[in-house]
Amino acid sequence: MIVGVLVEITNKSVDRIFDYIVPKDLEKEIAIGKRVEVPFGSRILVGFILEIKQTSDTDKLKEIIKVLDKEVILTEELLNLGKYLQKTTLASLISCYQVMLPKGYKASIKNNINKKYRKVYYLSDLTDKKITPRQKEVIELFKEKDRLSRDDLKDISISILNTLVKNKVLEVKKEEVYRLDYAKTEKKIKELTPLQKNAVTNILNTEKTVSLLYGVTGSGKTEVYMELIDKYLKKGLKSIVLVPEISLTPQLIKRFEERFKDNIALLHSALSDGEKYDEYRRIVKGEVDIVIGARSAVFAPLKNLGLIIIDECHSDSYKQDNSPKYNAKDVAIKRASDLGAKVVLGSATPMLEEYARGLKNVFNLVTLDRRVNGKELPKVELIDMNKEVGKSKGHFSQPLIDEINKTIERGEQVILLLNRRGYSSFVTCSNCGESVKCPNCDITLTYHKSSNILRCHYCGYATKYVVTCPNCHKDSLKDLGVGTEKIEEELKMILPKARVLRMDIDTTSRKGAHKKIVDAFSKKEADILLGTQMVAKGLDFPNVTLVGVINADTSLMLPDFRSSEKTFDLLNQVSGRAGRSEKSGKVIFQTFNPDNYAIKCAKENDYKSFYKEEMKNRKLMKYPPYYYLVLINVSSKDSKLALIESKKCEKVCHKYLDKTIILGSSPATIFKKQNIYHYQLILKYQYQDNIHEVLEKLVEYYATNNKVNLEVDFNPIHM
Ligand code: ADP
Ligand code: ZN
Repeated sequence: MIVGVLVEITNKSVDRIFDYIVPKDLEKEIAIGKRVEVPFGSRILVGFILEIKQTSDTDKLKEIIKVLDKEVILTEELLNLGKYLQKTTLASLISCYQVMLPKGYKASIKNNINKKYRKVYYLSDLTDKKITPRQKEVIELFKEKDRLSRDDLKDISISILNTLVKNKVLEVKKEEVYRLDYAKTEKKIKELTPLQKNAVTNILNTEKTVSLLYGVTGSGKTEVYMELIDKYLKKGLKSIVLVPEISLTPQLIKRFEERFKDNIALLHSALSDGEKYDEYRRIVKGEVDIVIGARSAVFAPLKNLGLIIIDECHSDSYKQDNSPKYNAKDVAIKRASDLGAKVVLGSATPMLEEYARGLKNVFNLVTLDRRVNGKELPKVELIDMNKEVGKSKGHFSQPLIDEINKTIERGEQVILLLNRRGYSSFVTCSNCGESVKCPNCDITLTYHKSSNILRCHYCGYATKYVVTCPNCHKDSLKDLGVGTEKIEEELKMILPKARVLRMDIDTTSRKGAHKKIVDAFSKKEADILLGTQMVAKGLDFPNVTLVGVINADTSLMLPDFRSSEKTFDLLNQVSGRAGRSEKSGKVIFQTFNPDNYAIKCAKENDYKSFYKEEMKNRKLMKYPPYYYLVLINVSSKDSKLALIESKKCEKVCHKYLDKTIILGSSPATIFKKQNIYHYQLILKYQYQDNIHEVLEKLVEYYATNNKVNLEVDFNPIHM
C-alpha cells in the first residue's frame, strides 16, 4: 500500500504530494484525512494523507513512521473546501488545510497538545476485605454517587486512595476531561415581537442561500439568530455562528449559553491551545450542535450543518490578513451552497457590497427597521469643533461636558468613544517637525504613557521616550497625538467625581480583562466607559443613555477608499449603544467636518442615504461593488530588486489583462515593514475571465524565488 502525503512545509515550492510506503502493520490504520509522521530529507515531518494507492511513479520510496490519528481530521468536506481555498486565494494547499484547524490538529511535528485526563474512582467488591476506620470513611463517600473524581475526593490523601486501589477496594480509571467549562445559567427565552417573528419565517422560507438581515441597532437580531438555530435544531440540523473578535462579545455568548447551555462549542483566539483542542474535539465527536467563534470557526466540521450565521457581517475581521487571504463570508456561502444549507448575514450597517446584493435580489433582504423597545433611535447632536476653539476644555466641548454631568446626576451611564484609527498617539518635534519613526518600518511610533515607551505596532520595536529629537537633537519632542490615557486624565480634571473605566488595547490585553470591564460597567461600578473602537461594538447596557464621540472625523482621513464607510459604520454602531432599554438615549458627535456626508448621515441614522451617496462615489472612482479589486504586493529585503520585479509584474499584467485597470506599481501604503520593502499594484476589473489564470502563473513564477516575494489579495479589505 502506498499513500500520497501533503507535508507541513508551507513553502509553495514544496506544495505537492509525496508518496510513501505503508508498512504492513500500519495498513489497517490508514485513511484519507489522517495525519502521519514521515521522513523528509534528513527531517521528520507530519503530513496529511490525501491519497491511497497501490503503485507510485517514483521509485525508492521511504516508509511512513506512524499514524497519528484514530479519527479522520480532514473530512471529505474539508478536503474539498481546502481545494476551493487554494483555487480562490492562490495560497499553498497545505496552508489552506492548516488554516482550517486549531493548533492541536494541525500537521506539525512540534505539536504537543494532548487530551487532558482525570482519575475517576469506582467502588469494587467489598467482600473479604479488611478495612480500617479511615478507609471506611472514604467508602462511605461512595454511598451517594458510585463514581467520584479526584476533585470530589480532594480532602482525602492520595496514599489512602492508592492503598484502596492496591487492595482492590477501589478501581481507578482514566477519563478525558474538557478544559473549558460553560457558565451555568437559568434558561431564558424571550417571546419574539411580530417583526422578529416575520424575519424568522422569511429566512426559513426563502429559496435563496443567503439572507441579509439588515436590522437597526437594538432591533433584536440576536434573538432572531437564536430562534433560527432552534428551528434548525428541531430539524436535526446544526449551526455555526460567526462573530468578530469573540473575546469582545461576552454578552452575546452569555445569551447563547442561557438558551443552549453546553450544546455550544466556542472557538476563539482568547482560549488556550488546550481549550481550543478540547472544544474542537467536542465538535469532531458530534457532542455539540452549535459552534460560536471567530473567522476560522467557519471551517468547524459539524455534520448535518444547516445554518451559518455571520453577525456584524460588515466587520473587517472576517478577512484573513495573511496567507491564505480568505474571507469567511465567501467560505460560508461556498459551504452552504454545496450542502444546501443557509447563510444569514446580520448587520445594522452592511457593507455596500452586501446591501447592493440585497437590493438586486441576489441575497434575500430582510429588514428590521425598529428597535425592540419601540423607542426611536437616539437623537444625535453635532458639535462643530471649529466653533469651540478656545472654549473647549482639552478635547471636551462645553455641551458635551454639560450632558455628561446631567446624565451622571440622573444615575445613568455614559459611553465615550475616542476614534483612534489613523490617529494614534505619536510624538513630534516642535523644532524640526519630524515625528519619531520605527527604524525597521515606515510608520511613526506610538507613545505609551504609562510605561513611557515608544512602540512600533508592526514589529514590536520599543524605545524609551526622551525629549531629545533624534533628527535635530533639540529637546523639543512632544506628545501631540491623543490617546485614551490622555482623555482619561482630562476627564479627571473636568469631572473629578466621575468614575471612569478605560477600555483599549492596553487595559484589555490580559485574558478575561475585557469581560471584567464589561461586568463592572454592567454592575454600575463606573459612570463613564471610555475607550477606542472596542466600546462601539455589540455592547448592551440598559443604563447607558448618553454616547459621546470625542473626534468623529479622524477615521475619514484614512488613505483607503472605505474610509467614509468605516466612519459611518463606527458612528452608527456607537450611537446604537445609547437608549437600548426603557430609557431614551442621546448622542453627541464632536467634529471638525459637520458637512461631511458620512457624519451627516450618521447623525440622521440614515443608512440608506449614506448608501446612495457612497455608491455614487464608488461608481465614479471605479471601486467595489462596481469593480472587483486585486492587490498585488511585491516585496524584498533589497529595495531595488522589489522595484524591478514589481515593474516586471506590471508589464505582465498590461500584456495579459486587457480589460483591467492597472494602478502602479508604486510603493505600498507602508513601504518598509520589518526591514522589507513593499511595492504594490492595484487591479480593477469588471469582467476579466483569465485573471485567476494569469495571477496564478505569476505566483508560481515567484514561488521558487527566495529573494522576492509576491502576494496576491483578491477583494482586499485594507489598501
Ligand atoms: P441587536 O443585535 O439588533 O442590536 P439585540 O439582539 O442585542 O439587538 O437586542 C437589543 C435588546 O433587546 C437586548 O437587550 C435584548 O435582550 C432585547 N430583546 C431583543 N428581543 C427581545 C424580545 N423579543 N423581547 C424582549 N426583549 C428583547
Ligand atoms: Zn517597526
